[in-house]
Formats: sequence, C-alpha cells, structure tokens
Amino acid sequence: RPLLKTALLGREIVYIASIDSTNNETKKLAAAGCVEGTILLTEEQHGGRGRLSRGWFSPFGKGIWLSVVLRPRFLPQEAPKCTLMTAVAVVKAIRKVTGIPCGIKWPNDILYQGKKLVGILTEMNAEMDAINHVVIGIGINVNIASEELPPDLAALATSLQIETGQPVSRRELLTVVLYELEQAYALVNTQGFDPILEQWRQLSVTLGQKVDVIGLNNRFSGVAVDIDRDGALLVDTPAGQERVIAGDVSIRPA
Ligand code: ADP
Repeated sequence: RPLLKTALLGREIVYIASIDSTNNETKKLAAAGCVEGTILLTEEQHGGRGRLSRGWFSPFGKGIWLSVVLRPRFLPQEAPKCTLMTAVAVVKAIRKVTGIPCGIKWPNDILYQGKKLVGILTEMNAEMDAINHVVIGIGINVNIASEELPPDLAALATSLQIETGQPVSRRELLTVVLYELEQAYALVNTQGFDPILEQWRQLSVTLGQKVDVIGLNNRFSGVAVDIDRDGALLVDTPAGQERVIAGDVSIRPA
C-alpha cells in the first residue's frame, strides 16, 4: 500500500488469493455499495473471462489479475469509453516499466507483435439513464514463461517476461498501471474524452489496418480508419463506411 501513487484507485484494496473471476466478485462488491476506486487483486482465476464468455488463462502468481470499480458520470452508452481509457493507461504503464512498444487492438486487447499481452473486460450496471457502476477487469500476462502457455495460446499470447527476457515486478507495474489509469480518468472528467481519444489513436495497432469483422451473423472486410467519440470502430468497405460496436464482434487482421 505505501507504494501506491494514487488517491482514488486503491482506496480500498481487496485481496483474494484464488478466485473464479475478479470481475464477478467485484461486481458483487460494487452492487453492495463499495467506494469508487475499490480494487480487487488475485493470484489466480479459475474462471477468468474474456468477452462473449471466452476464457482468460490466469495462472497463479504469474500475472496482474485485477478489477477496478468506477462510478463515472457517463451515460450508459458511453461505458465503452472506460475500455479505451484503460487501454491507453495500461499501454503507457507497460511502456514505462518495461519499454515494450505494445499497442492497442480495438476494442479491448493490448498486443505486442500481434500477440496478446493484456485483456480488458468492462462490465456496466446502469439504472434508468445513469451508470451505477463500471467494473473494469485487467489481465496482464507478466511472468508467464513460454512453456507455461497452453498449446492453444502459444501462437496468440505472450507475456512481459517472454518479451523482456527477465521477470518483471508485479508491484511496480501495478503501481504504475493504477497511476496511469487515475490520470486518464481525471483527464476524461476534466477535459472530456477528446484528449484520450487522440492518445488512443496514437497507440492503436488497429487503425490503418485491413480487418475482417466477424459478427454473430455477419462478416465483412475493410480498412479500419478511425474510432468515434463513443468508441465505435469505423471501417471503410467497398459498400461504404460501417460503424462497428464492441461487444458482439471480433476483428482479425485481413
Ligand atoms: P478477442 O480476441 O475476440 O477480443 P477476448 O477479448 O474475449 O477475445 O479474449 C478471450 C480470448 O483471449 C480467448 O478466447 C483466448 O483466445 C485468449 N486468451 C485467454 N487467456 C489469455 C491470456 N492469458 N493471454 C492472452 N490471450 C488469452
């Protein structure tokens, strides 16, 4: 705790050594009225989740498996902003601590050389037209060795240790992640979303790429040209521009 450089994030810290999913447990804390800035940390998740109930591999002691509670004064449809803001913060933190020039794959992943280092999962609870709470799950592959990756992830995933060739301090990285996230949140609250949007564009690996957009019952290809203020991806296709909303689609480099 004395290491923390934040006022809001980590005001309350819950540590549970082993858990099904940090987001599931944190949603319960948030619904029970915990303060904004509460964080929950674990060593391992048995039922860690990505989007669309895909699993998130979270081995004991090898990552930062963290959830954060925010109570932003955004409209419910603006909740994707939390994912974008978190991605910017985590990329900056990783670059600062390790020097790895990772980038953001829209909407919720951080990649290095095409492999996933971090997953972010934002879940919202809203009533009427106001957000009650947002839980942001952040999974960072810190000290996973390449031989510890399950075979199905070997080609898709990497870790900070794999990329730097040495163990990375989870304490130090956690401190910087929380610091950068607090800065990003303060920026959004004081200046609106445009400055973060501009940083997101600079750190994105998706913009300018040819992508395949794979929805539940449609699929198309195009060039990712920008994101809009609500965090939707704008894709130019031969038939015109498509606006792609996170949540129900995957994108792949085409
Ligand atoms: P998408 O890549 O479509 O955005 P999600 O954000 O839902 O997918 O993340 C879940 C996917 O991430 C899983 O299906 C799996 O392929 C991959 N994955 C699971 N655990 C890890 C991990 N620790 N590191 C990197 N990738 C992972």
